Amino acid sequence: KLSKRLEEVVKSIPKGARIADIGSDHAYLPCYAYLQGYITEAIAGEVVEGPFQSAKDQVKKVDLENVIDVRKGNGLAVLEKGEVDCVTIAGMGGTLISTILEDGKEKLEGVTRLILQPNIGAINVRKWLLDNEWEIIDEKILEDEKRIYEIVVAERGEAKKPYGDELESGLLVGPVLRVEKNEAFVKKWTHELAHLKQIASRLSSSAQTEESKQKLARFQQEIKLIEEV
Ligand code: SAM
Repeated sequence: KLSKRLEEVVKSIPKGARIADIGSDHAYLPCYAYLQGYITEAIAGEVVEGPFQSAKDQVKKVDLENVIDVRKGNGLAVLEKGEVDCVTIAGMGGTLISTILEDGKEKLEGVTRLILQPNIGAINVRKWLLDNEWEIIDEKILEDEKRIYEIVVAERGEAKKPYGDELESGLLVGPVLRVEKNEAFVKKWTHELAHLKQIASRLSSSAQTEESKQKLARFQQEIKLIEEV
């Protein structure tokens, strides 16, 4: 059985797509997506030898070697242009996800949908999408095994549109999520707010170097954004 987190990623795959799952580890996502009828074929990319072997073993175990191609390599380098319509990248930090997208930009020609699941720092993913004209068409936030996860789904389009006049806070909390404001969203940002306030109060009472003042100002700005949301 697939984790709730990855199952939600799979649900955003367009039916009949050819996908690349980058950082696939055990290749659970592409195997499940195929067995559930979401995809016709997949490439599972992995840069580290151990997880690469686990992916190969798993694909063999479920007898899908003819539809899931496990490739070893860094990020989108495992892809040829035009091989897939949809790319999934899940379970990494937002900075790493945006680096993978940036470094492999030219491989995205022909890709129509990105499904990204940053464990932390989703803001970096949204910034990359905005800068590269990918429009967020959907977002999800959910709690799974006591952790809260965000999923960002994007297609090529008017990247600014989902944000309306709320670009700055939208990048932080998600333009779709901020409208929906479900339970997991409120939980995440209530927790984050308390945490930031704690750091800010510690900073403001400690010695004030120029650097710490700037840091404090940044935290206070973020606190303000979250409070507004
Ligand atoms: N995608 C799976 C999931 O969400 O459960 C696995 C997540 S696992 C925490 C992250 C995986 O990404 C690791 O197996 C790691 O080796 C792989 N990885 C990290 N950087 C990568 C890169 N630049 N290219 C390909 N794979 C990468």
